[in-house]
Amino acid sequence: MRIGIGYDSHRLVEGKKLILGGIEIPFGKGLLGHSDADVLSHAIIDAIIGALGLGDIGKHFPDTDEKWKDVSSIHLLSQTVELMEQKGFNIVHVDSIIIAEKPKLQPFVEKMRETISKAGIPLTSINIKAKSNEGMGFIGKGEGMAAQAVCLLKKSN
Ligand code: MG
Repeated sequence: MRIGIGYDSHRLVEGKKLILGGIEIPFGKGLLGHSDADVLSHAIIDAIIGALGLGDIGKHFPDTDEKWKDVSSIHLLSQTVELMEQKGFNIVHVDSIIIAEKPKLQPFVEKMRETISKAGIPLTSINIKAKSNEGMGFIGKGEGMAAQAVCLLKKSN
């Protein structure tokens, strides 16, 4: 068994689409980043890479590489799952938290789970929780969003 943890945050700006867990959420602002800045997918990717002992997301998908500009983070997640399988591991479970003051994300959680499952993580092995930051700090002020994820991997036979 291997355990991994992931964290990500991105700045919230005008004029960008908000993409979380691979789906577009109507909001009027979006997250700024080299890729689609999907904090949830990035945290899950980092948790898996961490469990594999292979560094971090920046090592595998550097933001200096034009190849990853505006790329769908679900695509990066499916590449990470492929890498995990090549290394001989399967997902046991992924638990995650999106921390965002607005909008309310609960209505979108099932669609996010379905979208993430298409990247190769079984639907029953992915849990997503959505929380606000009670008005405190950069998240509470609406300056950005963050996500955390943990995953457990087991060696495939
Ligand atoms: Mg990121």
